[in-house]
Amino acid sequence: MKRDQRYDAIIVGGGVAGLSAARQLQGTGSSVLVLESNLSPGGRLRSPRIEGSVFDDGAPFFQVHDVRFQRIVDRWIASGIVREWTRGYVRDDGTVDADGEPRYCGVPGMSAIPEALAEGLSVRCNARVTAVREEGGAYTVFTSDAQEFRAVSVILAVPVPHVPSMLHKVDSLIEKELQSIRYAPLLTILALCTEDDPVPGPGIVQPGGPVASLIVDNTKKGMPSDRSAVAIHTTTAFSRQFFDRPDGVVIAAVVGAVEKWLDLSRARVQVTRWPHARVLQTINRPYVTISKSPPLVCAGDGVAGTRVEQAAMSGIDAAEHVRELLGLPEASSEL
Ligand SMILES: Cc1cc2nc3c(=O)[nH]c(=O)nc-3n(C[C@H](O)[C@H](O)[C@H](O)COP(=O)(O)OP(=O)(O)OC[C@H]3O[C@@H](n4cnc5c(N)ncnc54)[C@H](O)[C@@H]3O)c2cc1C
Repeated sequence: MKRDQRYDAIIVGGGVAGLSAARQLQGTGSSVLVLESNLSPGGRLRSPRIEGSVFDDGAPFFQVHDVRFQRIVDRWIASGIVREWTRGYVRDDGTVDADGEPRYCGVPGMSAIPEALAEGLSVRCNARVTAVREEGGAYTVFTSDAQEFRAVSVILAVPVPHVPSMLHKVDSLIEKELQSIRYAPLLTILALCTEDDPVPGPGIVQPGGPVASLIVDNTKKGMPSDRSAVAIHTTTAFSRQFFDRPDGVVIAAVVGAVEKWLDLSRARVQVTRWPHARVLQTINRPYVTISKSPPLVCAGDGVAGTRVEQAAMSGIDAAEHVRELLGLPEASSEL
């Protein structure tokens, strides 16, 4: 069904990049619509509940290196959306590496960040974008449920492998650049443990070895749970090998690798599959301009880096670029 309204910008993807872009553009007084394929925004910042316990099954925390992002994070801390969690982690031998690097988490979970960013935005969930076509100096955006939306500009803030199938034609150099961006899959195992305090110290263990790369006790982040709610992240090699295997096979292969810390065989467990979890190869650019007129820009981690911080800043930078291309006024408020 075709909509009559023409937005200044449509943002495809409601992860931290897309929501940051949308807020930045909305701050200029522009009309903005976010189209998100999932049932709720957040992307890889997600805090599902299992039997009353809350887990982060995507990014468990983030770090800050950019002073611009630090200012945003400071405001999030002041409004209670984020808090500093820890400045260290536990090595496989049980000793703590107090590296002094602040690691921040959402309150109560990482999904608090996209929830706060989405406030006041027009976000349409369950809207999987299948195509973006230029027609008469603007874009028509098509979704899988046969809806059509019109906008003067579009920001694609989805994992880059989703981009080519949405577009009719892309300059071959840009296409090559986008194709060079690579992601790794990741399997996360969420476990409601029977042990009282399976992950010592601050609640992050980097176990080493070929199976598990990180064990995080969400309870230690202050997330609501009456038992230890632990997320185990598997290595890229393991995730690739076991991505399509049944849950039982995945869990059986992980039990031995983490037995030093917890007894997975007695825990209530659930497996999450992220096909595009961590960026392996980035082009380290704030955004990629696919078209200047009408503006069509690609943003998110992958383009800009590998982490939450770079995804958020990429969204903001892409929105600023679109604002300039459209000749819109500067944003009146900061993110
Ligand atoms: C298990 C795991 C651990 C991680 N650990 C860390 C960490 O410790 N520190 C850190 O900084 N980062 C970490 N990351 C990476 C971090 O989560 C990402 O860099 C960041 O969240 C990416 O944000 P984004 O908005 O670019 O993409 P996403 O969060 O992927 O958002 C893209 C959105 O687009 C939507 N979408 C996709 N296709 C379509 C479509 N066709 N139509 C409409 N919508 C669509 C998706 O549903 C999604 O909501 C981790 C990620 C995972 C999965």
